[in-house]
Amino acid sequence: MTIQQLRNIKYTILGGIKSFSIPNTIRKSIFPGEKIILAYHGVSKQRNPNTFNTKFLSQAAFLKQIIEMKMHFNFISLDQFAHNEVDPTRLNIALTFDDGYLNNYTEVCPLLDDLKIPASFFITTIFNEGLDILWMDLYDLCFKFLPRQIVIDGIVFQKKFKGMFEMVSGMELKNYTIKKDTAFIEKLYNLLNKYAHFKSDRSLDDFWKLMAAEQIAEIDRNPLFTIGSHGNRHIAYPFVLEEEARRDMKKSKEALEKIGGNKIIYMALPYGAANLPTINTAMSCGYQYLLLDEFNALTKEYPESVWNRCTINPYLSAKNHILFIKKTLC
Ligand SMILES: [Zn+2]
Repeated sequence: MTIQQLRNIKYTILGGIKSFSIPNTIRKSIFPGEKIILAYHGVSKQRNPNTFNTKFLSQAAFLKQIIEMKMHFNFISLDQFAHNEVDPTRLNIALTFDDGYLNNYTEVCPLLDDLKIPASFFITTIFNEGLDILWMDLYDLCFKFLPRQIVIDGIVFQKKFKGMFEMVSGMELKNYTIKKDTAFIEKLYNLLNKYAHFKSDRSLDDFWKLMAAEQIAEIDRNPLFTIGSHGNRHIAYPFVLEEEARRDMKKSKEALEKIGGNKIIYMALPYGAANLPTINTAMSCGYQYLLLDEFNALTKEYPESVWNRCTINPYLSAKNHILFIKKTLC
């Protein structure tokens, strides 16, 4: 058994145990009348949901969290969040899901629909570009098939332990690529696609497959659910030219409005990456509310329609999540 496999087992066990069991002593006094947005990603029935993506949660852990939260808190939609329609006696929670994974449609929506819990799904519309996978997932899933050295756009990356590292800066390929533009990402796709042998393995579908147009449309038709944009190509807008950011934001909005018919007013910025020019560009494209995450906290210069979120971490205890929530609210 490899170190990685042992680590996965440890994380799965810890994730299961720590997953949101709120201690009796604090559950009644948590933030009455306050509101918070939680950010989830993938939810999977797989035994080790964190094998490729550390933000994934097992379906069992997710169900446990939702039931626990439903007992003590009030769920609200993003529209209710925007208009301050909250229960003054309880903590109010808006659920959001990033990236548009197919597992959101298969594992999350039926559950939330049964429990009548509102949620918002932020879709990356890369199907607009003829792509069927996010580059980060493509990289994670074909990593083990990659040779010891790869060259993208003249930049050499070498395989060391768990990543491909750029030779000069020592930067890992993911961190390096986040700061690059569409042209570089396209070259990365071209290279990685040669090693995408995992695509025929159905047991790995949960880790990369994205929703198709008809599934997005179905979610959009459900009055409990809201569709928002998570960009067209999942690029970090502050690192690209304004024109490229604008094109990407517009393309995603138009595609989602065509699919669902509803106006797209919410966008969760990819990687939560924001600055004031990016926010202004998004607003001028017709987005009314932008969502970040705790790694890119709000600054005073941002308008009130830019919101922070608390990203659910499968390895954190309920107590630490609550500390996170506290930090996000203050
Ligand atoms: Zn994302």
